[in-house]
Amino acid sequence: MAMKFSGQVALVTGAAGGIGRAVALAFAAEGLKVAVADFNAEGGEGTVQLIRDAGGEATFVRCDVTSEADVKAMVEQVVATYGRLDYAVNNAGIEGKKDRLPTFEASEFDAIMNVNVKGVWQCLKYQLPVMAAQGGGAIVNTASVAGIRGVKNMSIYSASKHAVIGLTKSAAVEFAKKGIRVNAVCPGLIETDMGLRVIDGAVDKTVYHPAGRMGSPEEIADAVLYLCSDQASFTMGHAMVVDGAISAA
Ligand code: NAD
Repeated sequence: MAMKFSGQVALVTGAAGGIGRAVALAFAAEGLKVAVADFNAEGGEGTVQLIRDAGGEATFVRCDVTSEADVKAMVEQVVATYGRLDYAVNNAGIEGKKDRLPTFEASEFDAIMNVNVKGVWQCLKYQLPVMAAQGGGAIVNTASVAGIRGVKNMSIYSASKHAVIGLTKSAAVEFAKKGIRVNAVCPGLIETDMGLRVIDGAVDKTVYHPAGRMGSPEEIADAVLYLCSDQASFTMGHAMVVDGAISAA
């Protein structure tokens, strides 16, 4: 069954590479106009070029999601450029260092929370009123399998992704009657710069997944596009696990 999209304009944060780039490319392949947001301009422009090379429409928006002024300007720029905002994928995130919980300094805690939690909250804060005013939309926040279970040596990251799911569910409850669906995707280990950093490059890439391999960014993009599509019209406040059965083991 082909996916259907009533909307025309998608915004993806953290789209300079990895999962965000795959989501941006997937939206563009469905014929949507895509705002590619990131604080990495070189990577973001690279994603835009890939979309244009494939015949799609995209624009780069520089945004550090930890800055409220940047996030406000990002949403305003998308609306100024394309006239509306139908889908938003709040995907920018960092993993922080890998170490035991007591070794974290407050500044390291704050750095992870600022991007992964405050960043997503600020995006929701400016996206939801735009979608409410235009009569609807869909948002997917990138959480993690670490948002539904504890992770050794990644306690703050895990806490931040649990918080993303809390924000997702609460926003879904608040805005369901406004025609806005808010969901989250919970990837397992995915073969991106971050995923490869998390496994340290040294260990067997297959050990974590019962599936015997890491996931691809495109496999997460497929889930994100489903959650945005008309086929997911009654799916709200859901944290969809796409993790090669890590969390089932
Ligand atoms: P990645 O490091 O390849 O990409 C992350 C992107 O976010 C980069 O383009 C980076 O420039 C951008 N970014 C970071 N901080 C930012 C900020 N303050 N403002 C704007 N952009 C910023 O990582 P990825 O694997 O593609 O991860 C994407 C999302 O998926 C993250 O939220 C991550 O936590 C989540 N995730 C990844 C995995 C994995 O195994 N790769 C697993 C579960 C969840």
